[in-house]
Amino acid sequence: MSMQYASGAVGNVTVNGVKLWDDILETARFGGTPKGGIKRLALTEEDRQVRDWFVRTCEALGCTVSHDSMGNQFARRPGTEDTLPPITMGSHLDTQPTGGKFDGIVGVLGGLAVLRALQETGRETRHPIELINWTNEEGSRFSPAMLSSGVFAGVFTEQEALDTKDREGVRLGDALEGIGYRGAEVCGAHPVAAYFELHIEQGPILEVEHKTIGIVTGVQGMRWYEVTLTGRDSHAGSTPMRLRADTLVTAARMIDAVQTIALEHGPDAVGTVGLIENRPNSRNVVPGEVFFTVDFRDPDDSIVQKMEDAFYAQASELAEKAGLTLDIARVWDTPAVQFDPECVASVTRAADTLGYPARRIVSGAGHDATYMAQVAPTAMIFVPCAGGLSHNEEESAEPDDVTAGANVLLRAVLETDMRL
Ligand SMILES: [Zn+2]
Repeated sequence: MSMQYASGAVGNVTVNGVKLWDDILETARFGGTPKGGIKRLALTEEDRQVRDWFVRTCEALGCTVSHDSMGNQFARRPGTEDTLPPITMGSHLDTQPTGGKFDGIVGVLGGLAVLRALQETGRETRHPIELINWTNEEGSRFSPAMLSSGVFAGVFTEQEALDTKDREGVRLGDALEGIGYRGAEVCGAHPVAAYFELHIEQGPILEVEHKTIGIVTGVQGMRWYEVTLTGRDSHAGSTPMRLRADTLVTAARMIDAVQTIALEHGPDAVGTVGLIENRPNSRNVVPGEVFFTVDFRDPDDSIVQKMEDAFYAQASELAEKAGLTLDIARVWDTPAVQFDPECVASVTRAADTLGYPARRIVSGAGHDATYMAQVAPTAMIFVPCAGGLSHNEEESAEPDDVTAGANVLLRAVLETDMRL
């Protein structure tokens, strides 16, 4: 890595962690629940309130705030070369029905802390710096998740997104108009030079390993399969072993193969059979049909493909040997995302310079960054959450960890501003 972007040039500017924590508590009132969580579903009155707060607060920091045709909000701090595309930070302010105070929120308010630090120290950047609040990330009211960053990246069309209905039959487009956040700028037309997202891990690894920062290198790829083996039901007493078409025994060998295949494709590959139905499931009947599911995941799609190929080959061979009919259907395929190496390197250097214990990590969950990685150099920063608990009112994170995450975000943004 080139030394010309070394830490010295970034300087010693840091975020105000106390003010960041105050912001987390203050915005938690919009949709706050008695148990200390938040219920702030996308495009509801509570969402409008937190959006209005976002506009007021960012404007008070000298930013101009706009929103696009999907209601995605952009708070902009101008650069000295203001025609350059902006370096962006973002996440989401909507929550699950029994959500916590941190999922998504840490990314937006952490970005706000970065804007505040730049403003209060009079720090100039070449690129404009922008903070994005994505509409309907959770997918709880309007399915699927990450809907508006998906439209931004061209994964979904705007029309299909606007026509998405909630369970009461309310169109997303109407709800967006209803809270006054349908903008004129076409979603996706907004230029972006790079995108950084700070988020809680939503898993246990950082906490268990006493790490403050997760340097997220990507989002793992995942494929799901449904397997049906068909043989012949027959009497457990009077059918000789050589004349059986026993599907459960062969299914057992296939399940064993799934584990072996995952182990052979390590270190990150995982393979799981979590659901099995044995028919007729009677103690004195040789099972004539078995249905089971397979789940293969890895940060690298080519590894997932290799696991799939190996499983198809071994399953076919096992079924043929046993004289069984095999049907395998791939029912879900979500490709892996590899974040931009330069952006990941900036996150790594930032954690290093600040002396935070850090490790590289692959996200098991999807985020707005998953789609943003398709249109701009992207990276993510994870901070620990207690017990790995998320999508829960008891979701919790330490103020020092949240501050650390925002400081890494700040340095990564500043370094990227100098690099691009
Ligand atoms: Zn989230």
